[in-house]
Amino acid sequence: PLGMPPLAREAVERHASGAFRYPQGGNPRLAKALGQRHGVDEHRVVVGNGSDEIIDLLIRILAIPGAHNIVCFNPCFSIYPIQGRICGVEIRRQPLEEDFSFNFAALLELVDANTRIVFVTTPDNPSGFCPPRAAVEALARDLAHKAPDCLLVVDEAYVDFAEDEKAASMLASGIMPKNTAFMRTFSKSFGLAGMRVGYGILPDHLADFVWRARLPFSVNILAEEAALAALADDTFYNATQDAVRTGRKELFAGLTALGCKVWPSEANFLMFGMPEGAPTAAECFETLLARGIIIRPLKSYSLPNLLRVSIGNQQENLAFLSAMADIIARKGEEA
Ligand SMILES: *Cc1c(COP(=O)(O)O)cnc(C)c1O
Repeated sequence: PLGMPPLAREAVERHASGAFRYPQGGNPRLAKALGQRHGVDEHRVVVGNGSDEIIDLLIRILAIPGAHNIVCFNPCFSIYPIQGRICGVEIRRQPLEEDFSFNFAALLELVDANTRIVFVTTPDNPSGFCPPRAAVEALARDLAHKAPDCLLVVDEAYVDFAEDEKAASMLASGIMPKNTAFMRTFSKSFGLAGMRVGYGILPDHLADFVWRARLPFSVNILAEEAALAALADDTFYNATQDAVRTGRKELFAGLTALGCKVWPSEANFLMFGMPEGAPTAAECFETLLARGIIIRPLKSYSLPNLLRVSIGNQQENLAFLSAMADIIARKGEEA
């Protein structure tokens, strides 16, 4: 919600004239800084052009087309099934529960000897649901038992927005089973989505394979400098955390007061449905768009009646709530 971190912006400007050079292959400075941040050996950190790149590489490295399968929830973050399909591997999907929580026992039922990756997003996109850390740990344990060759990918893109990061994140708690990889990104809490930097913390042997398969310069010089500077910009990071946590409460209360059904979220967005008798989700999206407010219709997640709004700064949140009040009231008058 706060734009680009000031220290990252300054770093990009300062290093712009060095962009005629190639980056250092393997981005060792960034890998080292991230290893230190998470208390892991830097050789286990793989940096990518967004964590999307790491997810794609993992599927391509681990799953053989036509032979292996990957397992995820439905709906889920679209990159897993899309890249899986492009890679020609079977995708097995467990529907979410009615309340958008996870049935890990049923997910595990889909796993067989040919499953190479199980994807779990915590907190989840698009609902914001966050399973207890202990449940994800148990899944890792059960998976190691049932399918020793299968990797659990825990996508923690939003986990630092959780009510209590340690209670939500295995990585933040230093719990890193051998069969588990963690995905993190600079796109959300570090405010660098357009720079395209994400990373995976992977089991030892796998990190080496991914580095060898990754194109050598996929994280460019300015993206690397921006990420390093953002890591050091504690003021920006803390202000982002405050803005998201405060804004999330205010938007939750505001939407609820307007009669919307809002799902509890531990991410930097809220999923909600329109009140009965109000314009449809699609109409709401279009009307907001015409007023210069862009939110996300969830039709592409097969949730045509639901919407997702990112927490903005205070002014944006108020503008959104005021537009929503108009949209919902107008329909009432027409009726
Ligand atoms: C945003 C997001 C990512 C990462 O995106 P990049 O910008 O590619 O780092 C990964 N997983 C989920 C669930 C996301 O929502």
